[in-house]
Amino acid sequence: MVKDFKAKLREYAHLLVEVGLNVQPGQTPSIESNVEFVDLTRSCVAACYDCGAREVVVYYGDDSITREGFLRADAAVFDEYPSYMKARVDWYLERKSPRLSFTGSNPELLKGVDPDRIQARRRVAGPATKPYFDAMTANRFQWCGSAHPTLAWAEKVFPGKTGQEAIDALWDAIFTVCRVTGDGKAVERWKAHAAATGRRVALLNGYQFRSLHYTNALGTDLTIRLPEDHVWAGVSDHTPEGVEFVANIPTEEVFTAPRWDGAEGRVYSALPLSVDGNLVDDFYLDFAQGRIVDVHAGQGEEFLRRAIDTDEGSHYLGEVALVPYDSPIRNTGLLFFNTLFDENASCHLAFGEAYPSCVKGGEDMDEGHRKAAGLNTSMTHIDFMVGTRDLSIVGTTHDGREIPVFVDGDFAF
Ligand code: ZN
Ligand code: ZN
Repeated sequence: MVKDFKAKLREYAHLLVEVGLNVQPGQTPSIESNVEFVDLTRSCVAACYDCGAREVVVYYGDDSITREGFLRADAAVFDEYPSYMKARVDWYLERKSPRLSFTGSNPELLKGVDPDRIQARRRVAGPATKPYFDAMTANRFQWCGSAHPTLAWAEKVFPGKTGQEAIDALWDAIFTVCRVTGDGKAVERWKAHAAATGRRVALLNGYQFRSLHYTNALGTDLTIRLPEDHVWAGVSDHTPEGVEFVANIPTEEVFTAPRWDGAEGRVYSALPLSVDGNLVDDFYLDFAQGRIVDVHAGQGEEFLRRAIDTDEGSHYLGEVALVPYDSPIRNTGLLFFNTLFDENASCHLAFGEAYPSCVKGGEDMDEGHRKAAGLNTSMTHIDFMVGTRDLSIVGTTHDGREIPVFVDGDFAF
């Protein structure tokens, strides 16, 4: 039993809707849910109407049906993206529907599935849903990704526990890292968290570093150039209409985009990475002129190579993110096998798509201009953790000053 579960679930739903989405009167939020998440979904729908939503639209997926399809459907199915699925996201886009989604899928959902099928589906789904997801990553409407436990996920995170005991343990962990205590004040705590993060973001934006140099005892020695007019962001974002929202709950990171052609050297992973449910561990990536030129993994190298091979852009970096080693997620000591959580445990980088908002005016640039401005473009975006207890990051300004950004795994300011 999770203590005060009902109160915490309600507090969590209000956090997601009031701070995550910040639903405005008259809006039509959409919730991407799962048949196993009915209670939280209903609480969120109620919270949306409390905020004055015009209508709340819910789409329920089903993991076991998804898996069955990937294993048993005709192979040709994966070469085509269903038009009704595209029509749905286009409808949301027209209405600038605030989008709430829950990760909580079985980490092994696609384990054992022919990787060609996954890749084929990704290749057709990407272009079909690109206008919608481009608008989302450009923050043209509010969006929030959050989490809900599933049995398979909970048992993976807590191998010593089974059934409801594992689910309860995962709920406890999610509530803890989301600052949900049952006292009904998570919304206030998140507003304070957003303000504190905003101070660091302002300092970093003031420095306008030309490059960052990463080193640690694992052997990381990586220099990353940053684009002109790059923009650091963290915790909260704003739509063009000025509505503040939090795109990830939980989130601890302060991030921007590197120049896609600006990485040189080697970076070692600090934590394992789960790619389509397959564990990749003990790896390093070598970069030359931004491109990943060599990969080695102690475990799961094939899955890492496939992910890097998604398209041309997935061979280059699209994100640089700073997270203190002493973060609520790292402090749980858990590996969540879920990027939403694990990426907030540690400083990380991502290969693939850069967020357009990471360069001034980037949201209004087409792909060609974004690339020219230094922002990577790709159909994928995969985060991997590089932050260790001893990580050092030194920023170099355009006039050659060297400023410590990270000392011993934590912010220097
Ligand atoms: Zn990130
Ligand atoms: Zn990322």
